[in-house]
Amino acid sequence: MPPITGRTYLAIPGPSVIPDRVLNAMHRASPNIYEGEIISITEAIFVGLKRLAGTRHHAAIYIANGHGGWEAALTNMFSRGDRALGVATGLFGTGWAKAAEQMGVAVDLLDFGRSAADPNRIAEALQADRDRQIKYVLVTHVDTASSVKNDIAAIRTAMDATGHPALLAVDAIASLGCDELRMDDWGIDVLVGASQKGLMLPPGLALLWFSDKALGAARHADLATPYWRIEPRVHPEAYWQHFGGTPPTQHLYGLHEVLTMVLEDEGLDAVWSRHKRLAKAIWAAIDAWGANSSGIGLNIPQATSRGHSVTAATIPHGGAGLLRQWLEAEAGVTLGIGLGMALPHEPAYGDYLRIGHMGHVNAHMVMGVLGTMEAGLNATGIGRGSGALEAAARALAEP
Ligand SMILES: *Cc1c(COP(=O)(O)O)cnc(C)c1O
Repeated sequence: MPPITGRTYLAIPGPSVIPDRVLNAMHRASPNIYEGEIISITEAIFVGLKRLAGTRHHAAIYIANGHGGWEAALTNMFSRGDRALGVATGLFGTGWAKAAEQMGVAVDLLDFGRSAADPNRIAEALQADRDRQIKYVLVTHVDTASSVKNDIAAIRTAMDATGHPALLAVDAIASLGCDELRMDDWGIDVLVGASQKGLMLPPGLALLWFSDKALGAARHADLATPYWRIEPRVHPEAYWQHFGGTPPTQHLYGLHEVLTMVLEDEGLDAVWSRHKRLAKAIWAAIDAWGANSSGIGLNIPQATSRGHSVTAATIPHGGAGLLRQWLEAEAGVTLGIGLGMALPHEPAYGDYLRIGHMGHVNAHMVMGVLGTMEAGLNATGIGRGSGALEAAARALAEP
């Protein structure tokens, strides 16, 4: 049980902290869904969603979590027996590829483990596909399990250089509203998002963006069933078709508020640089704890391959598990479990943790997490290097 006084802080990589502004926007009676305000805010939401993703093309909203978003995308991308190239850099990359396989798609999996995907190896896989059977390359932008960030623009450039016609589908569930992301500039055909990570909402909305090319191809995708078909959602004859039925009413009010906060009040560039600065503070602290051969360390050695919304780290000999327990019980801070590093029954499971720093996060929240982690390391007697909080404070002060 967390302490009963003061605000607790759920610092896991989703669901993330919901701003009071968003909670207040959602806290209202159900609106008429046939006419009035809900219709006009929905139109504004689609305009905002396209700005958020950096696209002139098509956006759709599904009532689902991220896994539902994966499936919504896949049903509109493939027919039974089609081929895909799956690119895995953590548990979520593998998960999306597996979902495709279970739906009848033949997936060649390129597994990069805990490193960022090598665009050259993706190009080689496409070159080896002489009959041009691969319809899509599936990539995760930021894999929330490993905290690897892939260079989507470089992957697209490498794909283009092969002349292979495969389209590019990107899971940006953990990076939307956190890391720089430009759908059209980077040549992304299908983009998948969800409401409960950088978008600061409760789980419940899966967001899809399709390029003209991908939407054209979707007309022939025979995996799509009526609810999941994207075409009527982006070109509805009646309002209800945007959602295949009743709209997610309160979520829409919340999403409208989020888009105002991100696009108008703070600005997308400022949102991206805030996440970058906060991430650097967390990395600096963990690097400092890792001195003195404590074994504490970041999952991803290369800074350019780290996402700015989540940080996976190791504290050996079960230290990560001990620290997580101390933080939750004594400090009211909940950190994320290690995901995809070891199974819960394996001893190494307690060696990993993740810090979520996505969405409604600022410097004092990050320093609060790091400061209580430092207290927890002391209290549990875990050996560590010194100067972590000074290093984080310095990183926060950098321009
Ligand atoms: C969270 C997440 C998912 C899964 O989303 P759910 O809402 O838990 O189904 C998929 N991919 C990435 C990159 C994620 O961060």
